[in-house]
This record gives sequence, C-alpha cells and structure tokens, in this order.
Amino acid sequence: MNNAYNSQSFWEREELSADWDLLIVGAGIVGSSIALFYKEKNPEAEVAILERGFHPYGASTRNAGFSCIGSMSEHLADFGLAGKNTVLNRIERRWNGLQLLRATLTDEESGYEHTGGIEIFTRNDLFERCAGSIGEMNRLVYEKTGLKDVYSVTEYRGYKAITNRVEGALNSGRMMKSIHRRLSKAGVTIFWNSEVIKTSEHGVQLKDGYYIKAKNVVVAANGFTKSLADVPVKPARGLIFITKPLKKLGWKGTFNYNEGYVYFRNIGNRLLMGGARDIARDEETTHHFGVNPKIHDYLVQFTNEVVRLEAGWEIEMEWSGIMGMTPNKEPVIEKTDSGVFVAAGLSGMGVAIGMQVAKDMVQILENSTEGA
Ligand SMILES: Cc1cc2nc3c(=O)[nH]c(=O)nc-3n(C[C@H](O)[C@H](O)[C@H](O)COP(=O)(O)OP(=O)(O)OC[C@H]3O[C@@H](n4cnc5c(N)ncnc54)[C@H](O)[C@@H]3O)c2cc1C
Repeated sequence: MNNAYNSQSFWEREELSADWDLLIVGAGIVGSSIALFYKEKNPEAEVAILERGFHPYGASTRNAGFSCIGSMSEHLADFGLAGKNTVLNRIERRWNGLQLLRATLTDEESGYEHTGGIEIFTRNDLFERCAGSIGEMNRLVYEKTGLKDVYSVTEYRGYKAITNRVEGALNSGRMMKSIHRRLSKAGVTIFWNSEVIKTSEHGVQLKDGYYIKAKNVVVAANGFTKSLADVPVKPARGLIFITKPLKKLGWKGTFNYNEGYVYFRNIGNRLLMGGARDIARDEETTHHFGVNPKIHDYLVQFTNEVVRLEAGWEIEMEWSGIMGMTPNKEPVIEKTDSGVFVAAGLSGMGVAIGMQVAKDMVQILENSTEGA
C-alpha cells in the first residue's frame, strides 16, 4: 500500500475512493456526455469523471468548433481510405451526432450558429473531380440521412467553391462549460487535476498514488489513450491561430480547403485559421502540445496568399490540441479484453460525433450490465 493511500481518512476511503458505479477518465465532450447520458438512464448511479487538467485539456476546448459533416474532397479521399459504405455511415453518424448535440444543449448553450460550410479550391482538377461527384454524393447522403441537395457548386471571393448547406459552427468553450453545468445539476462528480496512470476492470490508479474502485471504468482520453488502454488510437496534433480584430473581414462563415486539412472561420471580425497537419504528419503524431514552425509558416502564407487578409494583420493567440486518430478514422467504442471500456479515436470529428459516440458507449455499458 502506498503513502497517499495510507494517508487517507476513513471518510475519504469509504465515500470518495470507494466503489463508484461508473468512473470515466477524461472530461472532454465524450467523457462528459457519457456521464450525462448514463446518469439520465441511471439516476441513482454514482458517477464520477477524473480529469487531469483544471479544465478539459485535450481537444474539446482547443478545436475549431466546426459543426460539420465533411467536405466533398474529404469524402472522396476517405472513399479511398475506408470504402464508400464506411464513409456514408460516418456522414450519418456525424449528422446524428450534431442533431443530438443540438437536442441536448440549446443553441445558446453551445453558441451554435447556422452558417453553411464552404470548401474553396485553388486546383482546377480537384474542383472538377469534386463538382462532378456532387450528384452521386447528394443522392447517397439523401439515402442515408434524408437531407436533400446538401452540396452545390458556387463561387466565393473569386474561388471555385462547393457549399454544404447543413453545416454550422459553435463556441467550443461555451459548449463544454454548459455540459459541465448539466453534469453538476445531474449529480455527477468531476475530480479535476486528477491524472490517471493505470486502469483496470475494477478501478483506476491516480498519479498521486490513490486507487479508486469502480464497477465500470471508461477511458475517454482520446489522443492520450495509449498509456491507459490497448487500442489502435494514435495522437495527432492540430494547430490553430486567431487574429487580432480586423478592420475588414470579407469571409463570413466556415471554410475549408484540401480535404478538410485546412479550415478557417470568422469569429466576429477575427479570423480563426487552423490545420495543415498533412504537411508534417509524422512530426505531428505526438501527444505533446506545441507549435510546429513549418505548419505555422504554411498557415500564415495561406492566410496571406489565399485568404488574402489586408496587410498588417496579426496573430493574437496560437495553440495546439491533440486529436486521437484510428487507421480508418472510425472511433473505437468497445469493451476491451482487459474489461475496461474505451470510447476514443474520434479522428478530428468530435464536435460532430462526440455525443453520438457517448450515446453508443452508454448502450454498450447498459448491455454489459444486463448481460452480467
Ligand atoms: C486543433 C483541433 C481542431 C479541431 N476542430 C474540430 C472541428 O472543428 N470540428 C470537429 O468536429 N472536431 C474538431 N476537432 C476534433 C474534436 O475536438 C475532438 O474529436 C473531440 O474534442 C474529442 O473529444 P474527446 O472527449 O474524445 O477527447 P478530449 O477532448 O481530448 O478529452 C480527453 C480528456 O482526457 C483528459 N485526459 C487525458 N489523459 C488523461 C489521464 N491520464 N487522466 C485523466 N484525464 C486525462 C484530457 O485532459 C482531456 O480533457 C479538432 C481537434 C483539434 C485538436
């Protein structure tokens, strides 16, 4: 028995590190939503989240806030990677996830705005290929989701472009704050500054030595899952910067470029710009936060040469976030051989699919309890 455990009081041992019904590692959108949906179904259950940061410290509060089902060039590239069926199921999951998000939180609580999404092109061959596939894509998306004529050709600020009429954007910080308020009302406990170093079927070991027992343990640590569970989820770092307020910003809404690798949007009269992980993929396979100068320089150049902000614009803040990627971009939602549950590998789409993944995880938990 270690020192920290020895130093616990009787009350702490009996009530705080005793048998929780459900312990979740990670207070991002997935872990928090699992807690919320599980508690809705099991109001009497003792549910707690262990989060290593004093607020979530992964991707959910560090992303771009696009509420998107994906661009034409992204889908066509993914057809090659994962096959048509998988990609169409993913579009359906993204759409369902966004609907669930908007049914769970009010638009005020998430800061959601319906903007539509626009993919811009600088390469004619890629534009022609994407534009030529719109008819088929619209038909397939309609069959999956019931949404008609999602994609159409347009022009935006002199660029050939394809719009997606069903997309929007939200305020990621406000969304997470609102989910945590809901958790507090629902009676879910969140232990902040609590880093888990080991998990098992019966509980978790904290960095400071405490062991907390639980009937079920779910790892929802996404890009940080590797040390906690044996699943094929790799970290992938993403970079974002936001400009100081601009006198004139012609771009309004959400935009992406090159298979969704580059994305930008207006936040009032500031520009948020991010992505370009594809130009340094190996270096960005890391769970360490940080700015890759190569990517920074690429995004600055893109802002000057493609977005063409007026000269003199300045970056106000720059940050990175860590995604969890799987080989075919499908999330891992399962009970592992060790008996620990895992919901991770949202592959850069967690705003869209996060709540749906959480709902699926809760169903797996329910089925496993029924089967026990
Ligand atoms: C730069 C960037 C831009 C993005 N833009 C978009 C977008 O526009 N639209 C979109 O749909 N998706 C976007 N994403 C992806 C989306 O943010 C993620 O898919 C989603 O937030 C994943 O949620 P999560 O809860 O699974 O993981 P996270 O939000 O990463 O949550 C995991 C939590 O686990 C905690 N944790 C980790 N290890 C431990 C441990 N050992 N002990 C305790 N706690 C631990 C972390 O601190 C973290 O809070 C973006 C991601 C990044 C990085």
